[in-house]
Amino acid sequence: MDKIRLGRTNLMVTRLGFGGIPIQRDTEEEAIAVVKRCLEHGINYLDTANGYTNSEERIGKAIQGRPRKDIVLATKTQARDREGVEKHLKLSLKHMQVDYIDVYQFHNISDKKGMDAILAPGGPLDTARDAQKAGLIRHIGITSHNWDVAKQLVATDHFSTIMVPFNFVTREPADDLLPLARKHDVGFIAMKPLNGGALDNINIAFKFFLQFPDVITIPGIEKPHEIDEIIKVINGPAELTRAEREEMERIRSTMGNRFCRRCDYCQPCNAGIPISVVMSSFTFERRLPPESLLTGWFHDAITKAKDCIECGECETRCPYHLPIRDMIQEQLQWYREFCKKYSHLAKQS
Ligand code: SF4
Ligand code: SF4
Repeated sequence: MDKIRLGRTNLMVTRLGFGGIPIQRDTEEEAIAVVKRCLEHGINYLDTANGYTNSEERIGKAIQGRPRKDIVLATKTQARDREGVEKHLKLSLKHMQVDYIDVYQFHNISDKKGMDAILAPGGPLDTARDAQKAGLIRHIGITSHNWDVAKQLVATDHFSTIMVPFNFVTREPADDLLPLARKHDVGFIAMKPLNGGALDNINIAFKFFLQFPDVITIPGIEKPHEIDEIIKVINGPAELTRAEREEMERIRSTMGNRFCRRCDYCQPCNAGIPISVVMSSFTFERRLPPESLLTGWFHDAITKAKDCIECGECETRCPYHLPIRDMIQEQLQWYREFCKKYSHLAKQS
């Protein structure tokens, strides 16, 4: 598989990487088989996160016995202070059974508060730099859902990679974030190439990326056949046919009006609702084990949506004019049905 230079990291990585969220849903044996299948296809970029429960451990087991230099390992910390970053990094190294991480990313820096926290003197960025000097980290990156914040972070020149949602429906990053990243020689990684599982036309979803030869994509892979299908597209004809272009436009116009980009421009919510999480709740069903959605952070987030006071202020801030209040109610209805469907799992836990 073709490799490209990942910006100023100078790492040579396959244009198709592996996203480690969905293997949390697999049995351990299945998860290891999925990662191994990706490696057999020649994929060398594996992305995971401290926050993805057992994903790091499973990747660690799958890469055992392979030369470390042949694999580019990327993980993330959601910590916003020195102690948290140190703790997460130690855990990541232990879980993946490695001596160093190639790309260590600050996870989801999508607002000013997060940006200020990681850049604070003696804070997460300085901690990562210390770890870099100690040889535990090769490069430092950022992931974000907010393109304005992402642009500011790229412009600081502190980071070697940037990862944002990017696909043929959410294509805004192509307008100015990607050119800016090129200018600063920051490696560009597209998360959610299938829009968080909301796009099922794999063919056009991946053909879309063939026009961006310096962008790598990291689809979340749960089953071996999924990566086989994507590889077929990558190795097939690069040109989009007229019919495929029309199909892309059709999906874009249908979804474009009713799809949350998770950019968080609608915040702050008067009731403290994590709107972007609630708005894309249904996509989590395809990515995470159902029992994990019945309790914990996801349950808390969507349950908070019941507090909506219908003030409508969020809608005035949404650049896509989404009917947020209606969509929140739709997601709550979906969650009620989801809980009913998986009530047997709730009883077990
Ligand atoms: S309408 Fe609901 S979700 Fe929007 S800002 Fe008001 S309380 Fe928050
Ligand atoms: S509702 Fe609109 S502003 Fe809020 S996260 Fe979604 S797309 Fe962005």
